[in-house]
Amino acid sequence: MNTKELIENEKRYLFQTYSQPAMVLDKGKGMKVWDLEGKLYYDFIGGIAVNSLGYCHPKVVEAIENQSKKLIHCSNLFYHAPQIILAGKLVELSCGDKVFFGNSGAEVNEGAIKLAVKYFKEQNKDKHKIIYMKNSFHGRTIATLAATGKYKYQKDYLALLPEFKQANFNDLDSVKEAFDEKVAAVLVEPIQGEGGINIGTPEFIEGLRKFCDEKGILLIFDEIQCGMGRTGKMFAYQNYNVEPDILTIAKSLGGGMPLGAIIAKDSTASVFKPGDHGTTFGGNPVVCAAALANLQVLEEEDLLAKCKEKEVYFKNKFEELKEKYPEYIKEIRVLGLMVGLEVEKNGPEIVKKCVEEGILMNCTAGNVLRFLPPLIVEEKEIDYLIEILDKIFKDITSKK
Ligand code: PLP
Repeated sequence: MNTKELIENEKRYLFQTYSQPAMVLDKGKGMKVWDLEGKLYYDFIGGIAVNSLGYCHPKVVEAIENQSKKLIHCSNLFYHAPQIILAGKLVELSCGDKVFFGNSGAEVNEGAIKLAVKYFKEQNKDKHKIIYMKNSFHGRTIATLAATGKYKYQKDYLALLPEFKQANFNDLDSVKEAFDEKVAAVLVEPIQGEGGINIGTPEFIEGLRKFCDEKGILLIFDEIQCGMGRTGKMFAYQNYNVEPDILTIAKSLGGGMPLGAIIAKDSTASVFKPGDHGTTFGGNPVVCAAALANLQVLEEEDLLAKCKEKEVYFKNKFEELKEKYPEYIKEIRVLGLMVGLEVEKNGPEIVKKCVEEGILMNCTAGNVLRFLPPLIVEEKEIDYLIEILDKIFKDITSKK
């Protein structure tokens, strides 16, 4: 089928839940991806923070190939090596003691919420409320949706889960106000991604830890987007002087394969007994083998350090751009390779123009241009992005 036929069939056969540009992606290598017509794009959204190594890293491909020849699926009724080895590696790298594997971000967040509630049930305490933040994003299943601080995502389901209380990000007082004796945990992204690359201040993140300790409740960090090296540290909490009780990761964990994980301290993880939680596919052998290869490459290619270098490069280039368009560019927010450029208006139009020019990125939270490139992005590729943005901004601002 050609591009036109495929798009016609997409409209016919798929739920119309996504808005997509009129091209069909076909193959990728590193930062580059080509559509069916052979047009090249530089991917600055990286599968929404999934493709940290870019497309089809040879080591990840090799791991998938080898594992799929041995054992593709075997269920969690039995042990298999890739899952156990990966769990050990994650424990070694993080502040946690135990890992539970799921398939996606929303799923592991649901698990983390369940774990927090069960933790108190074990102590015969009825604590079933979770404090979450405005402009957060934790998933789209019904339960995590209730913890997603965007009314547009929640409005049709609100009555189902009234146990979630909203506070304001970077506002510790609002968390204190939202607290009552039924609260089990605070759930927060240290850096909000979908919310527009909002970076948690050290006062807020460290203040949350102190507050949770004072009240004897759990602190859950959702690092699904900001974890696994994206901020230049393996985990985003390592940018702060705190450790969460429960950490959730997904996105780039599986090197492009669907994998999520809950990482928790022993004291918390131990409340889940056999049968309390589970999944058919979570921690599948092929997916775990890909995740192990992904971690190995992060280390071998020193990508965390490179991420920090690119953070500085991005910031400087965006500052230069802001000097050219001081009115139009409202704010630059960068931590590692979580990059947000808030513009005055026309965000979606810019995304469309970028696609025409061979750049993939997106726009979130109104007019925040969001860039989550692979950690392997090179300076010359960032230069190309800047050149394109400069051209588009010039065009937009000259029409005012
Ligand atoms: N949490 C955060 C911080 C996210 O950014 C996302 C997805 O964008 C999710 C949870 C949900 O993950 P998934 O789409 O894998 O369910």
